[in-house]
Amino acid sequence: MRSALDDVIHDPIVGCDGAGSTVRTQLGITLSGNPALTYTTNIIFRSAALKHLHDKGQFYRFIAFDERGMWATLVAINGRDDYRVSIVGSDQPRRYSADEIGAAIRKLVGSDFAFEILSVVPWVRRLMVADRYGSERAWLAGDAVHMLSPTGAFGMNTGIQDAVDLAWKLDAVLKGWGGPHLLESYELERRPIAIRNVVEAGGNLNRMVTPRVEPILFEASVEGAQARAAFGRKYTAIMRREWFSSVINLGYRYENSPIVVADGTPQPADDPAIHIQTSRPGHRAPHVSLSADGRSTLDLFGNGFVLLTLGDEAPDATGFVAAAKARNVPVAVFASSQPDLVLTYERPLVLVRPDGHVAWRGNAFPHDLADLLATICGFKRPGNGPRPELAFGQKGVFLTPARQAHDTGDHATSRPDEQTEIAVPIAITNAEA
Ligand SMILES: Cc1cc2nc3c(=O)[nH]c(=O)nc-3n(C[C@H](O)[C@H](O)[C@H](O)COP(=O)(O)OP(=O)(O)OC[C@H]3O[C@@H](n4cnc5c(N)ncnc54)[C@H](O)[C@@H]3O)c2cc1C
Repeated sequence: MRSALDDVIHDPIVGCDGAGSTVRTQLGITLSGNPALTYTTNIIFRSAALKHLHDKGQFYRFIAFDERGMWATLVAINGRDDYRVSIVGSDQPRRYSADEIGAAIRKLVGSDFAFEILSVVPWVRRLMVADRYGSERAWLAGDAVHMLSPTGAFGMNTGIQDAVDLAWKLDAVLKGWGGPHLLESYELERRPIAIRNVVEAGGNLNRMVTPRVEPILFEASVEGAQARAAFGRKYTAIMRREWFSSVINLGYRYENSPIVVADGTPQPADDPAIHIQTSRPGHRAPHVSLSADGRSTLDLFGNGFVLLTLGDEAPDATGFVAAAKARNVPVAVFASSQPDLVLTYERPLVLVRPDGHVAWRGNAFPHDLADLLATICGFKRPGNGPRPELAFGQKGVFLTPARQAHDTGDHATSRPDEQTEIAVPIAITNAEA
């Protein structure tokens, strides 16, 4: 008798081989998006002198503007003497000589000082998502399927989430309790998140480079100082969206997933700064500290499904556990009447997947337990749900200062009042795909 394993998978391979993925190329999978938003150059240098050249004490990041706009960042690496300068660049390739790099560092700091260059690494800022994430036995994860601007620090996080999503599904299929369509849900769940994160990261870049500068900002006068203070306040407000964006990494949810049982409740706003813990199906199950031993509810998840039965009136789970066992679906029951846990989890029954996302919740078990298990374990063929795409449209095009830090300042050819367009992607959802 053939099993789901025979039908679906033999020697699975997961290409986690980065942006230039050979596995992706071999699979013939194409990418959509902007393959070269900026040609940026990172310079790591060491200097014991730098910290004595400013009055800000310990810092993480300076963002540098010149008369033509934002052109570079300076980041503290070890809190002592190692730093990184990123010359943001433009959409035109640019290599810098040693002299130009030295000049850029001195220009950014505002004086000559002693430093030692440790490395110079040019890299290309891309905003791209793969059109497919694999099929049958060959899959892709990480930068192989999405390339983000580092503005926001979402790239590695997005890749790790891919791995978490794919790993339990592969495990389930290899062990036989995962259905023939379980792995199809990998792309359906993760690709929309990659698009969401690419769009957010591109928006962050745009917010960082867009503010225009006026000549007064560079005047050594009281008016110049006041203008700089006002500009700093405005810019800080603009940058808050990037700095307070933990929800990008914590608040993603698998909307329209074929292996999540939607309960009809409306989707909460996906604001990068406001994390709403919810047990709504598709979301990451909430964290609550367990009063019994101080662990987090998140520590309950990772091996098989966990059914939380919450409150004194929670329905008996015996029938569900028996139905799961009959299908070799691993499920553990966690019962609690801890008040904040009951409140935060919103329903007396919450079924959490091995990756910590809610598969189903309810006040009572459905009549057809087999149907519930077939859905969440991928035995049902996914329907044609909405398919989001990256698009570069009118709404996604932003005006930015022309030079965009094409260089270190001495070679710019464009005038300060010139404008150029940086195309930042937007997500478009195509309901017919
Ligand atoms: C300047 C910058 C700053 C960043 N900052 C952040 C941040 O703060 N937070 C964050 O979350 N992300 C950040 N990122 C993004 C993050 O670095 C990437 O998303 C992450 O490294 C991708 O991991 P990956 O394993 O998918 O790919 P990679 O890190 O590219 O790893 C792929 C690996 O596969 C190997 N490989 C490739 N081909 C083969 C082959 N044929 N055989 C064997 N091995 C192969 C490569 O050598 C490499 O080791 C930043 C990126 C940049 C450029």
